Amino acid sequence: MVYEIQGIPISDLAEKYGTPLYIYDGQEISNIFLELKSNITKHLEVFFSLKSNPNISVYNLLKSLGAKAEVSSLTELKTVLMANTDPENIIFLGPGKSEEEITSCIDHSIYAIVCESFQELELINKIASIRKKRARVAIRVNPTFSIKGSRLAMGGKPRQFGIDEEIVFQNLALLKSYENVDIIGIQVYMGTRILDENVICQNTINILKLAVRFSEQTGLALQFVDIGGGLGVPYFSNEEDLNIQKLGEQLSPIINDFKDSFPNTKLAMEVGRYLVAKSGMFVSKVNYIKKSREENFIITDGGTNCHMAAVGIGSFVKRNFPMKNLTNLDEADIDTYNVTGPLCTPNDVVGKNVELSKVQRGDLIGILQSGAYGPSASPGLFLSHGFPAEVLIHSGKHYLVRRRDNSEDIIGKQILVNEKIFHLV
Ligand SMILES: *Cc1c(COP(=O)(O)O)cnc(C)c1O
Repeated sequence: MVYEIQGIPISDLAEKYGTPLYIYDGQEISNIFLELKSNITKHLEVFFSLKSNPNISVYNLLKSLGAKAEVSSLTELKTVLMANTDPENIIFLGPGKSEEEITSCIDHSIYAIVCESFQELELINKIASIRKKRARVAIRVNPTFSIKGSRLAMGGKPRQFGIDEEIVFQNLALLKSYENVDIIGIQVYMGTRILDENVICQNTINILKLAVRFSEQTGLALQFVDIGGGLGVPYFSNEEDLNIQKLGEQLSPIINDFKDSFPNTKLAMEVGRYLVAKSGMFVSKVNYIKKSREENFIITDGGTNCHMAAVGIGSFVKRNFPMKNLTNLDEADIDTYNVTGPLCTPNDVVGKNVELSKVQRGDLIGILQSGAYGPSASPGLFLSHGFPAEVLIHSGKHYLVRRRDNSEDIIGKQILVNEKIFHLV
């Protein structure tokens, strides 16, 4: 017996595509997206944050289900355009937008640029004027309020993101003074990995109040309010799933009431991790097993260079992602292992004291819940291993959606200077 996804043995995929390997279960992505949509009022539009998984085919699946796109770099923008996204369904966000990125947003007439500073606003205005177009802009506000319950809080703190609420309200005239910019509303992002429905609802209430105050004081019609998101998934044994039904029951009336008062306002939520994390499995192969001072070490062909997030996100205590021996499924036959990768650093440990069914050389190890912040958030060039392959499974079929980096991909970008220059002195 080996572990299967949609009836496909992982060992077949490992053989065909090699390891280390990321596998995304398209059925799981669909289920999660459709469950979210069916529980939350249709008045709240879901934008997929490509940051969490920038693979074009993963995005394309979400787009086919009705997701819109939140992008944060020129390449992410090109990704969603290449997948034929209607520019009306794209927003661009991020504290460090380049002139090239802003120009591209304006040229493609995307729905909104989420602006994070007055300097940026000035630049957007200037570029819009040069391109002889108007730019639609939502102001990212760093609010005075914050609420406990996010693993990485953004609100109420000094941050490089957005414009502080106080500064926004002190500069309303300035905000409105840019001739080539239409300010269409606000965006607030309170933090990530929220696992409490009440926190999301309370954040939303606060953000909507802030949006109304913004509209009243600027006199601008509220066309767009983006409530951020931050929906979490549990990684560790002490954490529990968000209850999406409960979230829907509590959040929908808040949104619907607002929509009654502001029927022309588009309401958006940004969701990354929640949509893709559970669908992903990172698969590596055990190259060696050894004992050191009474501890078992398994050395796999892919560690933190492929899956940095497994080291422990935002926590000081090392906790493990759920892991499985995919080759030996006998749960009565257990031992404890440190799971490491091929890097020459003691930090290349993806799991400490993990209980796994007895491991042999050649076994496949799966790290679950790995569909978000995987390869793209890992130091893939460390030891020049390059990035792993990625496979999407859909309707019982598997598709390579990113080929593995080879040596040429890595060395080919380097430039060998002529040896003579070292002998010039
Ligand atoms: C990272 C980020 C997201 C996505 O966060 P998740 O926790 O993956 O859903 C959404 N909006 C902003 C502004 C972000 O920085």
